[in-house]
Amino acid sequence: MKITAVESILLTVPYRTGGGLQAIAGRPSAGLNILAIRIETDQGITGWGEAFGHGVCPATKTAFDTLVAPILIGRDSSDIAALMRALQQTLHLFGRSGAVMYALSGVDIALCDIAGKIAGKPLYRLFDGRSRPLPAYASLLRCSGPDAVASECRRALDQGYRQIKLHEITVPAVKAARDAVGPDVLLMMDTNCPWTVEESLAMVAALQPFDLHWLEEPVWPPEDHAGLAKVRAAGTKIAAGENAAGAIEFRRAFELGALDVAQPSVTKIGGISAMREIMALAKEAGVRLVPHCPYFGPGFIASLHLTAALPADTPVERLFVDLEASPFGDWVDLKDGAMRVPQGAGLGADPDPALIARYRTHEPTIIR
Ligand SMILES: [Mg+2]
Repeated sequence: MKITAVESILLTVPYRTGGGLQAIAGRPSAGLNILAIRIETDQGITGWGEAFGHGVCPATKTAFDTLVAPILIGRDSSDIAALMRALQQTLHLFGRSGAVMYALSGVDIALCDIAGKIAGKPLYRLFDGRSRPLPAYASLLRCSGPDAVASECRRALDQGYRQIKLHEITVPAVKAARDAVGPDVLLMMDTNCPWTVEESLAMVAALQPFDLHWLEEPVWPPEDHAGLAKVRAAGTKIAAGENAAGAIEFRRAFELGALDVAQPSVTKIGGISAMREIMALAKEAGVRLVPHCPYFGPGFIASLHLTAALPADTPVERLFVDLEASPFGDWVDLKDGAMRVPQGAGLGADPDPALIARYRTHEPTIIR
């Protein structure tokens, strides 16, 4: 089976949030970006992938269009491992993490979608997963202050969430959240790498009364696994991994005892194939894995299928924003307090063409 045409499609979907700040990943943004990757084959089967993400989408799109797409055309798409290895080796000098790797992650997801469609099975079944309602956590955007944090937490509870993650960096924000949700809701704090090891240790002590389920990425830089291990030794559960470059970096983090929760991101780390490799490593190391997936395209859908193959208490990360519309269906929405896994072949969530047309930011540029 040969790849005959590829396309990257940047969608920007307006969204609302109640937290008082209109910013995504630390940058002001009125729209939520989805960089979709579409791959066509000579068998008439089309696969969809997603490449990371948010503010870097235009750079990832350029990396895909100029570097990845030209070497995809005419390639055999049936041996995904062989093709991904060849693509990664050809392009490795442009970075083992970053825009090129994000573009390749989108390719891998699309190729797995195609493989599932050929097999006639939803992907989770190819991964020995189980169809079941998946628990989810609301991943709140950074809010304008403690009052806004409390009100967003209450809104998440009203929508049925019983696990909430803050993107805050102050003690008053966490106190406001805990006061708002009570003692029984799981509360996580994602800080996005602000502190030294010493500063992190001081914050761990200050946050101790608020019973955090995990503290995410406290230490700068993200690859300081030894530093993270020192913070973890203070007793708070540590989550990280969305910024790791590949399975080998996870292996190193596991060896150094840096993580309670590993968080590879399917749209960044090398796609579904890399995720499954890291899932096996984490299992062997006895480290819990909770996918990073604060996005709304095929990468989110892929994360649902992967989560169905993880232990039953593994929650799905759902960025807590209200999208104007969801081009890849209502699989991104909580139903009866849980996420559902699509049952169609492959990802089982081809996009709505009308919504693709409405939200695409550019003219079609199909590469053949
Ligand atoms: Mg994070």
